[in-house]
Amino acid sequence: MKQAPESLGKVNIRDYEPIVGRGYIEELRMLASKLSGKTIQNINSTFIGGGVAEILSRLVPLLNQLGVNTRWHIIPGDAQFFEVTKKFHNSLHGKVESISDDELSLFLETTKRNLAQLDLAGDILFIHDPQPVALITKRDDIGGDWIWRCHIDISHPDSRIWQFLRQFVVNYDATVFSSPNFAQELPIRQFFAPPSIDPLSDKNRELPPATIDAILTKYGLSREKPMILQVSRFDRLKDPIGVIEAFDMVSKNFACQLVLAGGTASDDPESEEVLEEVKERAKDNPDVHILPIPPESDIDINALQSAATIIIQKSLREGFALTITEALWKAKPVVASAVGGIPLQVRNKFTGLLCHSVEGAAYALRQLLANPDYGRWLGNNGKEHVRQHFLITREIRDYLLMFLTLKRTEDIINL
Ligand code: UDP
Repeated sequence: MKQAPESLGKVNIRDYEPIVGRGYIEELRMLASKLSGKTIQNINSTFIGGGVAEILSRLVPLLNQLGVNTRWHIIPGDAQFFEVTKKFHNSLHGKVESISDDELSLFLETTKRNLAQLDLAGDILFIHDPQPVALITKRDDIGGDWIWRCHIDISHPDSRIWQFLRQFVVNYDATVFSSPNFAQELPIRQFFAPPSIDPLSDKNRELPPATIDAILTKYGLSREKPMILQVSRFDRLKDPIGVIEAFDMVSKNFACQLVLAGGTASDDPESEEVLEEVKERAKDNPDVHILPIPPESDIDINALQSAATIIIQKSLREGFALTITEALWKAKPVVASAVGGIPLQVRNKFTGLLCHSVEGAAYALRQLLANPDYGRWLGNNGKEHVRQHFLITREIRDYLLMFLTLKRTEDIINL
């Protein structure tokens, strides 16, 4: 079992005081003090890449700073194991995958090997997503409270795979889902905690204007025309073609430019194909900029989001849509489809505009281009909404409260 890298820990809980207020941080300290002497053991399957690793890489050092002994390990697995767990991921999202009995056996065998090798210990075992879910089979030997944190929307899963995984889930003390809409009925306690962003990360901290300008120049973008931006992997579910169609309708009446920025993933064979389709669709329009962004370009993405006039997320399906959280935190007016976690973030006509079609997206874009003051008002409301609900300090508070209400912890702690 690999331990989290040493590079974690370059965060200071005090730096969040000017953002959420001293009282909020004091409350976190007070809650954390009740867990002193306890160990929280996080387990997932990767240190880098994806939202879970992103959140843990800040959460773990911050909890340690608050005095809660928090560890983070990943489970080992070979390519075949991760192929199976990727299929689990897709199946839980509702896609029908063919997963053979041999593949299920491989999953169980790997878990068994991991259990023989891993030094699992802690007062609270915080297990993230399906890859390590079956570690629970040894809970009687290991002890502690066990929580399964599911970051996936499993409201409409492929039932065979969900039944397979459910047999492990029901042995946990509790689950955490991002939203009640993402959950399943279970005979155990359920907590809800939406994802969060770190306002001090490279993706979200305020950048000097000179840095933003340099990055715009690097990508050949000008500040002259209002910029509509969608940041997304090149994936059909993000509907990049729909974004271009909406832009075509709008740009007949308003001088503006569209930027579609995002990466292609080596584990997603479709992304290159989608990127080519999008380039083909945009090739005759010099106001449409397709920017392939290399991985780990947080400052570039921050700069594009900071420079945008309007941020769009016209997805056909979504998880939580952290791109919207990031946009709102930068006080940008957003136009976004009413799918997945987006309506939790975009309160229509208060923190942004929701849309349901290409025409609806075009209508909302026109409204914002015609009335920048309205856009600023929405953006400022959106930033406050994120400050209240979707910053990492709130996720830490949710988890501390949850840890404190677990049965075994309650027995030990004098509340
Ligand atoms: N992102 C990125 N590079 C890209 C595209 C996206 O760093 O080329 C980031 C984006 O800023 C956000 C996350 O990846 O933090 C995407 O999360 P979201 O929930 O919006 O969508 P997902 O890709 O998980 O479906």
